[in-house]
Amino acid sequence: MTIAQNGKKIIMQSKKKWGLWGKKAPELHRASAKSNFSDEASIRDLIASQKNAAGKSLLEPDQIQSLTIGGDRLTVVLEITQNQLPIRQSIETHIREALRQNTAFADIQFLITAHKNSSSTPNPYAHKGELAGISKVKKIIAVASGKGGVGKSTTAVNLAVALSTHAQGLRVGILDCDIYGPSVPRMMGIQQKPVITANKKIIPLEKDGIKLMSMGFLVDPDAANIWRGPMVMGAVTQMLGDVEWGELDFLIVDMPPGTGDAQLTLSQRAPLAGAIIVSTPQDIALIDARKAIAMFRKINVPILGIIENMSYFDCPHCHGRSEIFAHGGARREAEKLGVPFLGEIPLDIKIRENCDAGKTVNSYYQSIAGKIISTNNVT
Ligand code: ADP
Repeated sequence: MTIAQNGKKIIMQSKKKWGLWGKKAPELHRASAKSNFSDEASIRDLIASQKNAAGKSLLEPDQIQSLTIGGDRLTVVLEITQNQLPIRQSIETHIREALRQNTAFADIQFLITAHKNSSSTPNPYAHKGELAGISKVKKIIAVASGKGGVGKSTTAVNLAVALSTHAQGLRVGILDCDIYGPSVPRMMGIQQKPVITANKKIIPLEKDGIKLMSMGFLVDPDAANIWRGPMVMGAVTQMLGDVEWGELDFLIVDMPPGTGDAQLTLSQRAPLAGAIIVSTPQDIALIDARKAIAMFRKINVPILGIIENMSYFDCPHCHGRSEIFAHGGARREAEKLGVPFLGEIPLDIKIRENCDAGKTVNSYYQSIAGKIISTNNVT
């Protein structure tokens, strides 16, 4: 049963119990129903569960670009397809009414954008049909950063683990495309090389149920700085076409840092369902993060959100908190750019130690994994 239906049920129950609770009961009951929809995840579910008269979903979950809550104001950013343009107003009216009935926001603002390509084919340059290896992969998600050293690979690996250990039992793979420093095999504690079968198919490596391939197996990282578009195109085609990924719910792609020719080619070649941007809170890192967002937007890859890594440090000795690289910059940037803010990951020695030892630290990444699952329908 959808949340919208739940909402309706609560209101119906309030009518039934009127006689028992006296005059004030319906308002009380309604207020509690409204308080069920006060955080981003539940409002997102509420919007995504809205159906048209024919019982079809009004929007795909990834069309809800962002929700910003500020006091009693809710700002909803939606991205509709060209086909939905003629019914833009009725979509807004329907969702506004659902929000008015089920939430307590006094001021509900809508920002609706339309892209030339529908959200189900977000990347116009994608050639999924040619890429047999990923024919059974439901969602390919890029983890990117504008600059190196901000914890992009660490986030990609830990997020893959958090997705695979999520209660939904998802099948997850990780593709290390960071040609400048392919570190994912080391972070996952994998030393061996992949096997190539007689018919030239590559069997991905596997650790704790997560499938892994790395461009580092194909290239000498010392030669990576001479990689240009056509070379990247060839390598990524092989990674997506010739690797036997099998059935996966999510394939996480650890992108090379930056926004140059290699990054653009990769983003155009892989049929990405969305991109996650990792940044530290500092202005200098955010300038580059902004460039990465602009690159993905240019090729119509939806931005799933920004993660602030190294967001703060809780000292294990004095228990004081330090904001070594400042704090909150990524959240503010997300609000400014109208993209979701996915969460803060602290600077934690356990993250570094475990990554170096080929282990992961799952706990910080669970709620981010939950958000990714709720905006990417894989069931
Ligand atoms: P990138 O992929 O952006 O170049 P990495 O993921 O390789 O960055 O991280 C760079 C270094 O920082 C690694 O040694 C990693 O273990 C460490 N690191 C990343 N995120 C954190 C964190 N939140 N806390 C502690 N160390 C971290």
